Amino acid sequence: MKLPKLPLYTKILIGLLAGVIFGISANRLGFSDFVFDYIKPIGSAFIRLISMVIVPLVFASLLVGITSLNDIRKLGRIGAKTVAYYLCTTIIAISIGLFLANALKPGAGLSEEARTKLITNSSEESGVQIKTDLKTPTVKDILLDIIPTNPVKAFTEGKMLQIIFLALMSGICLNLIPSERSKPVINFFEGINDVVIRMVHIIMKIAPYGVFALISAVTADFGLGILLLLLKYSLVVVIGLILHVTIVYSSAIKIFSKQKISTFFRGIRPAQMIAFSSASSSASLPVTMECTEKNLGVSEEICSFALPLGATINMDGTALYHGVSTVFITQVYGLSLTPVQQLTIVLTALLASIGTAGTPGAGVITLAIVLKSIGVPLEGIALIWGVERILDMCRSVVNVTGDASCAVVVASTEREL
Ligand code: ASP
Repeated sequence: MKLPKLPLYTKILIGLLAGVIFGISANRLGFSDFVFDYIKPIGSAFIRLISMVIVPLVFASLLVGITSLNDIRKLGRIGAKTVAYYLCTTIIAISIGLFLANALKPGAGLSEEARTKLITNSSEESGVQIKTDLKTPTVKDILLDIIPTNPVKAFTEGKMLQIIFLALMSGICLNLIPSERSKPVINFFEGINDVVIRMVHIIMKIAPYGVFALISAVTADFGLGILLLLLKYSLVVVIGLILHVTIVYSSAIKIFSKQKISTFFRGIRPAQMIAFSSASSSASLPVTMECTEKNLGVSEEICSFALPLGATINMDGTALYHGVSTVFITQVYGLSLTPVQQLTIVLTALLASIGTAGTPGAGVITLAIVLKSIGVPLEGIALIWGVERILDMCRSVVNVTGDASCAVVVASTEREL
């Protein structure tokens, strides 16, 4: 019997659901160790494979995109629109988070017993993480860090903003030198670009297995008890994320582009599922680029600029989570926030989310920056540690969706769609 050829999205979805069932069974029947030892490495291999292509993909596709763009003013316009979109949507995301947490009060009414249980359950693990990074990124630091002092270091350390900067400068300068000198270089990078895109196609074939392995490892490790204890808080974060996606991104697409909202969400699904299972918008980047170009019809020029930039600085899901978590922790401690403190949260969460790497668990570390800015004890992070991974998966989905919506909006306003 010949099996029907399923679309990639359906295969990944099957992998995801099978992973959840398998992981929960492992947890219940006591074979979690088997999952960690033998299944999880398949997921790690998948993540390593996609991570492998990120740096060459971003550099080559952006450089090729810039060299095909003869109008330097257009580049400036695309850049300004992209950054403006990212900043506005992030501020809206934090405001939604703050509004919901203030209105629904997830932290009020948590019993003393539940609080102690949460803190003792998780303080050891979270304590290690909290100490790692506490510097509030200033605008000056963020901007200066874009310029690499050593290009090779930028590549080896995978510093995305520096790689974008290098690709932009190289592309612009290639356009400024005689074409007989620039042509071979451009041809070379076009070749690299094609090879890397081919690699992405091959890697995507194993995505359903990778997703299965990643999700089963997460669910095999998950304690349902903690989720119930933090149910109200988790729900407020998830409701906020859903509202942000359905209201903000849908409206942006409706207002600025002619693309159907259903086409957008259908097209971006594979990237969302990779983001959900990997909890990393950086690791999802090659898939986000593929979906945005192939399924949503955005040009390579715009995708190769807006998406890597978004995977680095645009974290709406993380920013919303910062807003809800900060208010939740203050409510649990019985503190109240003044309007000035709420405004401080908006500003620091904006900077902290820009400074958050698109990797699993990065957002909870930068949450410490927000808490510190209004003088909330950092131990509060221990309270929410138990549901950190699951919320990380959800906010990563929003982060990649925001990047793709920006690419669609910018392409539409440039009359490219
Ligand atoms: N994991 C998130 C991402 O990659 C960042 C975060 O931890 O909030 O998009």
